[in-house]
Amino acid sequence: MARSLPRWTALTLIALAAHTGAQAQEKVLNIYSARHYQTDEALYDNFTKQTGIKINRLDGKEDELLERIKNEGARSPADILITVDAARLEIADQAGIFQPIQSKVLEQRIPANLRTPNWIAFSTRARLVVYNKRDVKAEWVQTYGDLAHPRLKGQICVRSGSHPYNLSLGAAVISHEGPAQAEAWARGLVQNFARAPKGGDTDQLRAVAAGECGVAISNSYYLARLMRSTKPEDRQVVESLGVVWPNQASWGTHINISGAGIIKTAPNRDAAVKFLEYLASDQAQSYFANGNNEWPAVPSVKLDNPALKAMGTFKPDTLNVGELAKNAAQAQRIFDRAGWR
Ligand code: FE
Repeated sequence: MARSLPRWTALTLIALAAHTGAQAQEKVLNIYSARHYQTDEALYDNFTKQTGIKINRLDGKEDELLERIKNEGARSPADILITVDAARLEIADQAGIFQPIQSKVLEQRIPANLRTPNWIAFSTRARLVVYNKRDVKAEWVQTYGDLAHPRLKGQICVRSGSHPYNLSLGAAVISHEGPAQAEAWARGLVQNFARAPKGGDTDQLRAVAAGECGVAISNSYYLARLMRSTKPEDRQVVESLGVVWPNQASWGTHINISGAGIIKTAPNRDAAVKFLEYLASDQAQSYFANGNNEWPAVPSVKLDNPALKAMGTFKPDTLNVGELAKNAAQAQRIFDRAGWR
């Protein structure tokens, strides 16, 4: 996930200052975040305005933040971990760092399939299939399963099989079609690779546009970002791509999330619950989702995003994100055996 990122060292100092200054009367909330966009600044400021609770934010990479929380143990100042992808939240949950979230507001606002007992989704993104309109027919790529068909030999571009976005997709295939079918699919997909996996999703989109491959798999917000770009080279990429919502006739397009959990040792638990409830409010939902061209998790929230509007509507997979994430480890073993590096 591209971030306009983090002054790790400076923010580390801010977090430490907050910890040692705990005797101050000021109400605070300490957020460890692996998600950072310029638009999120307004989101945090508004929470402080509404509640008087000051936010100390530590930005970093998912793995670093998780390691840090584990190392800090009971002394951790962390109240909340925000990150992306169900597979990553599952890893954090397996590490035992979260506590159950108890909130009627969240139960009412966030759909049941986007919640687990210990973490909760605030925005969603779809894993799309894109193809080069010059070389590939739309009817060849209507499902994830189609991408393993021999007629697409040498055509597929996709990022590493160990990346959480692909592990979560693999987990969805396991959930709906079983591990044997998932393995056959992964093997077929690898047979069709145009090149060894490299780069992020945007690199795959550009490679399809450049004709290096015929088909790619990408999260929706990377496409939306290009759609909203004013650069002529990005416009050209978008114009050459066909876009498919996969599996509309079966289990729906694979959906992933941005989400958060409350840390087991959170020193400011009430403020943490308040913040998560705030994230589910109408205004915060549109900020949070729009910041990365995602869809709000709360279904009633109106979209204010031309790229998402242009993408239209689709049938999403309604599998619970927690159930899905439990299969990510098995997906990794299957991808390893299939040679999806
Ligand atoms: Fe990303």
